[in-house]
Amino acid sequence: MKRIAFFGGSFDPVHNGHLSIAQRLTSLFGLDEFVFIPAFHAPHKPDRRPTSAYDRFAMLSLATRDETRISVSKIELELPEKPYTVETLERLKIDYPNTRIFFVMGADSWMDILTWREWEKVLAMVSHIVVTRPGYEIGFDHVTGEIRERIVDTRNNNGTWDLGPGAGEGRIYITDAVLVDVSATELRKEIKDGVPGWHGQVPAEVAKYIEKYQIYK
Ligand code: ATP
Repeated sequence: MKRIAFFGGSFDPVHNGHLSIAQRLTSLFGLDEFVFIPAFHAPHKPDRRPTSAYDRFAMLSLATRDETRISVSKIELELPEKPYTVETLERLKIDYPNTRIFFVMGADSWMDILTWREWEKVLAMVSHIVVTRPGYEIGFDHVTGEIRERIVDTRNNNGTWDLGPGAGEGRIYITDAVLVDVSATELRKEIKDGVPGWHGQVPAEVAKYIEKYQIYK
């Protein structure tokens, strides 16, 4: 059975943390494909000028240009309004039959999962991969005992756990295979303030794009 991971987020901008996750998980989980799903953004966020979907998509495309298995989806960008993750996963399950679907999130998203619409359904309908993130603890007390039983904690244990041939949906794999301390919010601030060194946190092509189009100025 084909294995495809989907990674939802703002990607504003995509950074080396996101890319390390894509590359590392593709090899660790033997994925056939790894797909970034940039989120729909409300055109007018109160807190700041939104980065257009075109720019976020372009930066992701540049960042993944040379990767054969890693790509970018327009599934949320083509919708008239922001879908809930549960809706996107429902659609992906229809679009990708006979596929083992993984949904990827960082530790901060995992700790917030109770705020997601129909979160228990989300956690049951596909497999999940939760990636540790520097500065964020991963806990399990916030989810139900039934969900805790589906958690496969691979930390400090790489290689000795088994994904299984088509092991049931709803497994939640915890991995510390990636530890990159980059945050898009911090990065945007550094770019705006001209803090030297920000270029090193994104692929070179993305840095050039940000400068050429003055994305965060
Ligand atoms: P922000 O700093 O604004 O929260 P972000 O860097 O988390 O942005 P997003 O596009 O919001 O970027 O992240 C998408 C997903 O990637 C989320 O699930 C988030 O937890 C995860 N993620 C982002 N950066 C990292 C990282 N360095 N390590 C692990 N997970 C990460």
